[in-house]
Amino acid sequence: MADKSISFMRSLCLGDIEEDVIVPYPSLPDPERETLRSVCTSVDELLTPNAEAFREWDVAGELPDEFLGQLRDFGMFGLVIPEEHGGMGLRAAAYSRTLQQVARHDASVAVTIGAHSSIGMRGLLLYGTEAQKARWLPKLASGEMIAAFCLTEPGAGSDAAAIKTTATKDGDGWLLSGSKLWITNGGIADFFTVFAKSGGTDDRGKLSGFIVTRDMPGVSVGPHEDKMGIRASSTTAVYLDNVRVGPEHLLGPEHGGFKVAMHILNSGRTGLGGGIVGMMKRLVELTTAQATSRHQFGRPIADYGLIKQKIGQIVVECYAAESVVNMVAGLIDQGYEEYAIEAAISKVFASEALWRAVDEALQVAGGNGFMREYPYERILRDCRINRIFEGTNEVLRLFISLSAMNDVGTQLKELAAGLRGVFDHPIKGFGVMSAYALRRASLATGLRRAKGAFTRLEPAVAAEAALFATCTRDLAAAADRILRKHGKEIIGKQFASSRLADIMIDMFVLACVLARVNAAIVRLGPANAAREREILAVFAGQARRRIQANFERIDDNDDELIKGLADHAIEQRKFSWDNI
Ligand SMILES: Cc1cc2nc3c(=O)[nH]c(=O)nc-3n(C[C@H](O)[C@H](O)[C@H](O)COP(=O)(O)OP(=O)(O)OC[C@H]3O[C@@H](n4cnc5c(N)ncnc54)[C@H](O)[C@@H]3O)c2cc1C
Repeated sequence: MADKSISFMRSLCLGDIEEDVIVPYPSLPDPERETLRSVCTSVDELLTPNAEAFREWDVAGELPDEFLGQLRDFGMFGLVIPEEHGGMGLRAAAYSRTLQQVARHDASVAVTIGAHSSIGMRGLLLYGTEAQKARWLPKLASGEMIAAFCLTEPGAGSDAAAIKTTATKDGDGWLLSGSKLWITNGGIADFFTVFAKSGGTDDRGKLSGFIVTRDMPGVSVGPHEDKMGIRASSTTAVYLDNVRVGPEHLLGPEHGGFKVAMHILNSGRTGLGGGIVGMMKRLVELTTAQATSRHQFGRPIADYGLIKQKIGQIVVECYAAESVVNMVAGLIDQGYEEYAIEAAISKVFASEALWRAVDEALQVAGGNGFMREYPYERILRDCRINRIFEGTNEVLRLFISLSAMNDVGTQLKELAAGLRGVFDHPIKGFGVMSAYALRRASLATGLRRAKGAFTRLEPAVAAEAALFATCTRDLAAAADRILRKHGKEIIGKQFASSRLADIMIDMFVLACVLARVNAAIVRLGPANAAREREILAVFAGQARRRIQANFERIDDNDDELIKGLADHAIEQRKFSWDNI
């Protein structure tokens, strides 16, 4: 039995490949697979007739009540709610795959369902008492209540701890006051998971999570925001004016709200990821149809190398995005507790892969791609938000590398403590050790295990497995080197952190593709998995080149020059040069 407290990426940064966490690649048990197939077929039956309407609702900026009623009747709001509370009880992988199917049809619908299930009422599932679950889950499952997640405020976006909404003690309950901004489902929700400062109003005071319902005195919402994309999904401000909530509305531990909010966002990422993969698969269908039907210079443009290059790249990245999203869902379903870094990686990689894909798909469509009559521009508008919400990709990159760094730092401190007298400074002093001495020290203290390579993969993927092992050694050495160079100052070294994050992103996605292709070879045999092996070869080659470039740039870069130019522009507030 694998240890469920292990994080693949945390271990990797220390030089260990925790193979058991990702091999075998997660797959659904047959009964769950059957259920999922029929859910996906029903999703298609429900949504396909609305293809033209989705375009109109994008222009109107709203999903009509009648359609929301159809989603309710389908059970779309109960996907992840346990059957005993009236839901479908889908686990993470099946839920993610269902949102994939929805997003192939329309991103606004996927976001509406995702905001409800992935974040809006996720806190109730994760932290709710039995009484809270019994009271609200059945109504949330039927869609009688739609849920929203209320964290962001005008002055607190990425810096969630800076929220100003207050929870002031009032008898056995609280009075909530403040404004929440850009809340998905705000205009249609009856159930709000609200975060407020409960431990005083100072800037870094503690937060608590609360359940607030639409019918409570003092709750109101603003008008629908006029957005660039996912226009038909509802986004509004939510206002709380001395809303009195009793103790039965507290969600999770008092003053433990920050952790509650982060856990919700982490565990909800596979929903967003599923939607992203769905949009990428749709792009493969649209682009291949367009490339075969459009003729130029007497031939279909699909015959031309530069068009094939784009389509082939979209296919590879779609496979990679699906591999990482489904892996994270699989980790959750298997009960792994430490998947926050892996989930953040899946969000960053998938959202950026989709952005590259939609840009190239629109290019394949040429002028048609620019026309509203065609779906490309809407998909492009719809998918831009994925790099911004549920944690911006910049902040997630910092989270990815700094979390791993923290572990490396802790390990170095522990090792240093284990070898008392050898080091004067626990982190910076550690750098005097050679790799050989490091391994010796590791073995001596028993803090590290020698897990530097995959051992259970098929011979057909040996080259990629060996590449991965080499990159793992380099990653552990680079993490050590960066920490040695910057010490605690690493927190302010965003260029270096982001580069390390990019290496980690490529490595985890490569590990997921490797594990998935390995599973395909086991299931089908090397010959029948030939196409998937080609995808692995392409992704591994591209990842290797990016990883190598990022390693080189750790020491050989233009960071200080770029910073200086940015400082100059920021000071001048303009571009300082002209040709006339
Ligand atoms: C359509 C839509 C729907 C949304 N739905 C919800 C919802 O349902 N619930 C909810 O609570 N919120 C929601 N949000 C809010 C969303 O989560 C925030 O927009 C997001 O967290 C980013 O915050 P911000 O927009 O204030 O950007 P800021 O935090 O102001 O960031 C601006 C830029 O600075 C960068 N940045 C910030 N801090 C740092 C740093 N320390 N280092 C380096 N770079 C940094 C960011 O990456 C970004 O590029 C929604 C937003 C939109 C647009």
